Amino acid sequence: MIVQQTIKPGALDEAAYADLRSRLRGELIRPDDDAYTEACRVYNAMIDKHPAAIARCVDVADVMVAVNFAREHGTTLAIRGGGHNGGGLGTCDDGLVIDLSRMKGVRVDPAARTARVAGGCTWGDVDHATHAFGLATPSGIISTTGVGGLTLGGGLGNLTRACGLTIDNLLAVDMVLADGSFVTASTDQHPDLFWAVRGGGGNFGVVTSFLFALHPISTVYGGPMLWHLDQAEAALRWYGDFIARAPDEINGWFAFLTVPSGPPFPEHLHGKKMCGIVWCYTGSRDQAEAVFAPIRGLFGGPALDFVGPIPHPALQSMFDGLYPPGHQWYWRADFVDKLSDEAIALHIKHGSTLPTPQSTMHLYPINGAAGQVGRHDTAWSYRGATWGEVIVGVDPDPANAARLRDWTVAYWEALHPYSAGGAYVNMMMDEGQERVRAAYRDNYDRLVAVKNRYDPTNLFHVNQNIRPSV
Ligand SMILES: Cc1cc2nc3c(=O)[nH]c(=O)nc-3n(C[C@H](O)[C@H](O)[C@H](O)COP(=O)(O)OP(=O)(O)OC[C@H]3O[C@@H](n4cnc5c(N)ncnc54)[C@H](O)[C@@H]3O)c2cc1C
Repeated sequence: MIVQQTIKPGALDEAAYADLRSRLRGELIRPDDDAYTEACRVYNAMIDKHPAAIARCVDVADVMVAVNFAREHGTTLAIRGGGHNGGGLGTCDDGLVIDLSRMKGVRVDPAARTARVAGGCTWGDVDHATHAFGLATPSGIISTTGVGGLTLGGGLGNLTRACGLTIDNLLAVDMVLADGSFVTASTDQHPDLFWAVRGGGGNFGVVTSFLFALHPISTVYGGPMLWHLDQAEAALRWYGDFIARAPDEINGWFAFLTVPSGPPFPEHLHGKKMCGIVWCYTGSRDQAEAVFAPIRGLFGGPALDFVGPIPHPALQSMFDGLYPPGHQWYWRADFVDKLSDEAIALHIKHGSTLPTPQSTMHLYPINGAAGQVGRHDTAWSYRGATWGEVIVGVDPDPANAARLRDWTVAYWEALHPYSAGGAYVNMMMDEGQERVRAAYRDNYDRLVAVKNRYDPTNLFHVNQNIRPSV
């Protein structure tokens, strides 16, 4: 096996960076520049990496120049989309970062119901542009997340049961490959590459533009519904049965959380640990009250009910304020087929002891439209699972980092034996090769074959890495 050889920056001639700077239309930020400290920061403040240079590319030509530079000089290369990755896989120490955040722009074609999205957009950029036409495509639950990383890893969120994963709505990508060439991949062009990028992450090249299918979704009926923790066992048991049989237009992800201490939350709930479901119903508005009436009658009624008609972008950005950039984040994840009595008991034990107000556990449904795609149709293997489970310790104070990690790991270790084995790559830290293989199962060998073809020297290795075998 040959893995990309990298060299320390000191060995690289300053003249080489000066030459790189002169070839770029965007900025090249080096450690001596005023902008460097800020440019190094990623969303997760637990990540503290110091690249030799950050290329803020503004167009495809810039990306080609930067990819060629990294390959020719044997420099570690990281690709940064929205910078949200938990394990900090959008940056690196010592190498070159291609920062796509200046590559913005969304062009909606309302007749074809598609959106062409530049590689550096966030989901907020996309929702803003598509909502003007009464259209939407599935993404996650926080609008500041990058389109790049979320899409290439799969994309789980509020519209998963109605419209599938984000990758199920991806029609084509424009990419710069490891050899510096530019290709479009779709079901007709480079179909092997298109199969691999739908779940295989940033392993195959830099995606400079995405083409998504859009759906006529404008105002949905959704929001959070919370219950006290003494209802958690009944709520989880009911939820497990309900989501397994629910119509595709109902999405609801389960959470253990702490109610924020401020408006719009009622004062008597401030700071309370609770459980809840964040709903997103895309069916007819006339039906919505009838669909939710029996749910509202469960367990004596919810302690908080913010569920109602809401513009899709408002639901997508509802939690942005609770999770600003710059906090400490520690992640663990698994796929889950069913919630056994033992698993429910362990969830309640650990979910009741959230270590900080922003720490949480979510169960994102995968069945519905996402579950109807075959496990070999895209690189995303766990189509038969019912949920993607994620446990995250979150807090602004770096002094709490160890506490976040200990709680997250203990919770994950307790529940892992009840999981389906692998995890969603976008909700993992940098956890090593075995976890990457477990995420892809029998799709892994096919991913290696595509990697061998398009990136045999593993230039793109700062990611959940598919190692080439040539
Ligand atoms: C607050 C928060 C909420 C989240 N919610 C959800 C959610 O609801 N659903 C969900 O599915 N995920 C969610 N995630 C996880 C998210 O999908 C991953 O963190 C993802 O990696 C973020 O993508 P990014 O572009 O912002 O990250 P980055 O750190 O910039 O990149 C992540 C990885 O993708 C690669 N990459 C990014 N852009 C490109 C590109 N254009 N071409 C090639 N490679 C690229 C990078 O090299 C890196 O390996 C959330 C994360 C956070 C922090």
